[in-house]
Amino acid sequence: MEIRGLGKSYRVGKSSFAVLEDVSLGIGRGEFVSLLGPSGGGKSTLLDILAGLESPDAGTVRIANGETRDAPKIANGASLSGSLIPPIAYMQQKDLLLPWRTLWDNVLIAPELISSAERRRMEPLAAELLRAHGLDGFQKAYPAQLSGGMRQRAALIRTLLCEREILLLDEPFGALDAITRGRLQQLLLRVWREYGKTVLLVTHDVEEALLLSDRVVVLSGRPGRVLREFPVTLPHSVRARSPETLRIKQQILELLEGHHE
Ligand code: ADP
Ligand code: MG
Repeated sequence: MEIRGLGKSYRVGKSSFAVLEDVSLGIGRGEFVSLLGPSGGGKSTLLDILAGLESPDAGTVRIANGETRDAPKIANGASLSGSLIPPIAYMQQKDLLLPWRTLWDNVLIAPELISSAERRRMEPLAAELLRAHGLDGFQKAYPAQLSGGMRQRAALIRTLLCEREILLLDEPFGALDAITRGRLQQLLLRVWREYGKTVLLVTHDVEEALLLSDRVVVLSGRPGRVLREFPVTLPHSVRARSPETLRIKQQILELLEGHHE
């Protein structure tokens, strides 16, 4: 995925304010990249643009299967070139489970939209994921009957069941207790490795970014610009205890400190 010179402003009343400014970023196939930055810096807006939910005012997004999105083309409503379905699964920051569907029918929505055969094919994996994450027995529950943490786990499982190569995850572990968060981080790492996914994870947790990703991209506050990128090369198993991790963490915190509103 190649992002070049991306810019985006929102209008509020008569004035407009810049949310993203000249953001350029390349993400390799199979890479795990984290995006860190102060809130209000346009991280969710960036993911919205990558997923095609928002259009940029400037710049280009190119996705490896030949799909290209230019700011003016999208604004004119021209169709996307390349595949009609971008290879992207997006877990948005707000939990968007459908309130009228049970947990089971929520997590299987992506394969169901393809065909009923596809849904049947994914049901065993869905059952396994629910079991592994403490949601067994809640298949028939509606979102309103679940806790915030349960809904967040369901939304993540639904995203994993999309079978898309690129995962965009917007603060997926925010509302979880430490133990559940640790388990889900491990699940995400397993899915990333075993299925060869490309992951772009937004988080405000520096440690989480350093534990999980190959590269941490730090954005400034509004308007969001790329301040610096930090490669993380240590094996995942030793990161939590390594002085090298601590050293990068300090650098990132200092950088963020200097750019806080
Ligand atoms: P982050 O995810 O980094 O916290 P967001 O992308 O959610 O930042 O938001 C960046 C800024 O853009 C915020 O000030 C937010 O209020 C504003 N914003 C987001 N979406 C819209 C919208 N649809 N219309 C107007 N302003 C918006
Ligand atoms: Mg956000």
